[in-house]
Amino acid sequence: MIDKSDNKVTEAPAKSRRAVKKAEFDFLLAEYPNIWKSSTEQDIRRMMTFSESYKKFLNIAKTEREFNREAIIMAEKKGFSSIDNIDKLKTGDKVYASVKGKGLLLAVVGKFPMSAGFNILGAHIDSPRLDLKPNPLYEDEEMVFLKTHYYGGIKKYQWTTIPLAIHGVMIRKDGSAISITIGESDDDPVFYITDLLPHLGSEQMSRKGTDIVKGEDLNVLIGGRPVADHDIKHEYKIGVLKLLNEKYGIVEKDFVSAELEIVPAMKARDVGFDRSFIAAYGHDDRVCAYPALMALLDQKNPNKTVICMLSDKEEIGSYGNTGAESKLYENFFVELFAKTNDQYDEVGFRKALSAAKMLSADVSNGFDPKYASVSDPKNSAYMSHGIKLEKYVGSRGKSGTNDANAEFIAEVIRVFEKNKIQWQTGELGKVDEGGGGTISAFMSGYGLDVLDCGVPVLSMHAPYEVISKADLYMTYLAYKAFIKNI
Ligand SMILES: [Zn+2]
Repeated sequence: MIDKSDNKVTEAPAKSRRAVKKAEFDFLLAEYPNIWKSSTEQDIRRMMTFSESYKKFLNIAKTEREFNREAIIMAEKKGFSSIDNIDKLKTGDKVYASVKGKGLLLAVVGKFPMSAGFNILGAHIDSPRLDLKPNPLYEDEEMVFLKTHYYGGIKKYQWTTIPLAIHGVMIRKDGSAISITIGESDDDPVFYITDLLPHLGSEQMSRKGTDIVKGEDLNVLIGGRPVADHDIKHEYKIGVLKLLNEKYGIVEKDFVSAELEIVPAMKARDVGFDRSFIAAYGHDDRVCAYPALMALLDQKNPNKTVICMLSDKEEIGSYGNTGAESKLYENFFVELFAKTNDQYDEVGFRKALSAAKMLSADVSNGFDPKYASVSDPKNSAYMSHGIKLEKYVGSRGKSGTNDANAEFIAEVIRVFEKNKIQWQTGELGKVDEGGGGTISAFMSGYGLDVLDCGVPVLSMHAPYEVISKADLYMTYLAYKAFIKNI
């Protein structure tokens, strides 16, 4: 072929002895290549399309209650119905059970009996945020605020000076519920936590990072106009209460029976000229929960029964009756087992449960070259290099973690590689640098095999986190391959 740049005929270079040798030994080395490099135009189109649906979902499902609600709508459209309405289940049946409106279980009944084991994708649908205190409303210097108590691990200073929204429910004394979402429409007001101007911030900036903004200072500005009558006490607070009473019929005491969550009012957006990343609130853990849900909704007549378990309260330890430790999740497994068999037997159920296989679908930290010192570069997940397998999490000598069995890891890798899933592995930071936990520690108690496996995230637990579209789509393919084939 003529090289038109210099009109010279180019010849293929002779293969050097060195190059031949390298290729010969390639199979010995572990390599985890960048997904974009090997992606076709069609692959990229699929990643982009999936990302668009994900972003839309993020914008309408910012809290565990909203995730639950939207997931049920999507599931019912795909033919799922409440397990309460069906006495006997048969192959191909699709059922779900809501866990107090804050967790969700979905299943597609397989061809094999559940005693042959079943496959679970488990993710959590709560994210770090600010919850309101039970008695949150107060007035100070003619401004009205809501007191908060932060939920999950946050850097408190990151939650000041950004637009905030209020999502949640209030239950009135008569038991009626009001669903509240304010701050998401373009014409809604937003809410705001102030910070100190730099001109007067020298003492503040000399404090430790954890104290730059203190927990008791995370108070949200919500109003500043008095009621018309100026002679009364608390006229500014009453101004806000009057508005709330007119709109929702609530009084101050109704805050006690409420779950109102303060979340960033920002929408999910593409990041970068090439749109390779997505920034959003609460990728942790919706970036795993959404692909896990989609993978389950796609299942038709699987061999083994497949389940998607979406739990609450992971960010504060999976406690409570909606956290992964709750028996309500186990109850669903029992009900599925009983309704797919002629009769329930405890030994049979326990054996089936211990033969189950699970991916604990949770995020991990992506390697950030700006903060490289906290991670071991040889044991880190890199952005756009695929789903991250994490044998263990925990902290200080693997404390408080599940530690997946080598046999199970090999099985997962076998399924992934057979299905051309790009995966990588690593730890959450250097030894003794910190650590984390997931639902795998609780689920492994049933005797089932479970492996942590999810999307790497930059700026994890910040109000606005970043993920790679390539990792998101690869994770969806990985979850689908796992529940269908393991
Ligand atoms: Zn988290």
